[in-house]
Amino acid sequence: MDRYQSFARSGVGRFVVGKLGLPDPYPLRRHSPAEPPLTGPVLLGGAGRLAGPVAGVLASIGVDVVSAADRYGALVFDATGITDVAGLRALFDFFGPVVRSLGPCGRVVVLGTPPASAASRVAQRALEGFVRSVGKELKRGGTAQLVYVDEGAEGNLESTLRFLLSGRSAYVSGQVVRVGAGPVEVPADWSRPLAGKVALVTGAARGIGAAIADVLARDGAHVVCLDVPAQGDELAAVANRVAGSTLQLDLTADDAPVRIVEQLNVRHGGVDVVVHNAGITRDKTLGRMDAARWDAVVAVNLASQERLNAALIGPDGSGGLRANGRIVGVSSIAGIAGNVGQTNYATTKAGVIGVVDALAPELAGRATVNAVAPGFIETRMTAAVPLFIREAGRRMNSLSQGGLPVDVAETVAWFAHPASSGVTGNVVRVCGQSLLGA
Ligand code: NAD
Repeated sequence: MDRYQSFARSGVGRFVVGKLGLPDPYPLRRHSPAEPPLTGPVLLGGAGRLAGPVAGVLASIGVDVVSAADRYGALVFDATGITDVAGLRALFDFFGPVVRSLGPCGRVVVLGTPPASAASRVAQRALEGFVRSVGKELKRGGTAQLVYVDEGAEGNLESTLRFLLSGRSAYVSGQVVRVGAGPVEVPADWSRPLAGKVALVTGAARGIGAAIADVLARDGAHVVCLDVPAQGDELAAVANRVAGSTLQLDLTADDAPVRIVEQLNVRHGGVDVVVHNAGITRDKTLGRMDAARWDAVVAVNLASQERLNAALIGPDGSGGLRANGRIVGVSSIAGIAGNVGQTNYATTKAGVIGVVDALAPELAGRATVNAVAPGFIETRMTAAVPLFIREAGRRMNSLSQGGLPVDVAETVAWFAHPASSGVTGNVVRVCGQSLLGA
């Protein structure tokens, strides 16, 4: 809990916050293996092609589906049956009477058909405005998401629903996710889905990268932790903690891609999951920016990724990225909304989204390519931001608080999941539904 949050939860704080209408950040429920996936039963509504498959997933997760309760853990609605504008009334009819009975850190998930392909294009596109507004209205840590499920992808939902319903998606809200068709690798053990997999995490010595290493290792992966030699001690500490390996090099070095691919192939027989997390900022407004700042940020945040991806994919797929591989980029809301003093950084972070757009179709059926776009995450990077800007950044989202590195890591783990083969071409913001770039 940050200091404002502790104050807001104290006796005096509650009074002041309530009287002045100040933000009231609710302590978020995060994943813990000892806790049930949801805090209450699920109310499942709507009539379409997904109601059956979703009920099957909910049974597999082990949550109760009820027809009525005083308090719900989640409200899940199959909107694929909505084919025209008049049909949108079903959203109002289902959610209106029950939305106030959603418990703390409750979940709203609406499932639709991608509007591009649906005959009912207008009605399906309309779902987005509904879900984003519900996300803004929910109190006490609640989140709302829209999942567009391709025709034929009805059986590909489990990893996504497990993520969105659980505390793993604590800081993800107002997002639109697309799940496509294709064969899915179901893990033998859902609590260790990455068992037997090798993951490379760049910038793993600290912050978000270290959290990604922790979570992927928790999920069973052998994690190769990469960072610059100057971070050697911290990198070794992370690698020891996760029983992984280290790779010390500067990603911008000419020989970096060759050395990485060689090490992955020789020591680990290839790689399944690649997380491009390393990133730097060199902020200055454009008129005051020197070429060195521009070049350094582009080299680390974007050019090195492109070169490494090319080497890992290799000509004719010979580069070391194994079948059913995963490439995950780390973008930023700055790459979506833009930010003063960050023309260089935002350019690269929008470029990371371009990598997703370019590679996802190219690697379809062989690997997925997605990106996370973190908002305000409590790390050294954000601790260095001046106090007032920092405080504004922290509060300007539907959850009125900053996220934690683990929130980004859990989203990466959902992309990395072997059963997420239908989840490709997505950019998911981990930003508590930030007002920036919304
Ligand atoms: P951080 O500075 O704490 O960690 C970044 C790591 O990358 C460091 O360990 C650093 O040594 C490593 N790195 C930098 N240049 C490298 C190079 N040339 N070769 C190898 N390693 C290199 O940053 P963080 O806050 O943990 O951010 C991680 C990622 O998340 C970055 O891509 C950042 O842009 C992105 N992001 C962070 C936030 C936030 O709120 N913290 C928000 C949006 C996006």
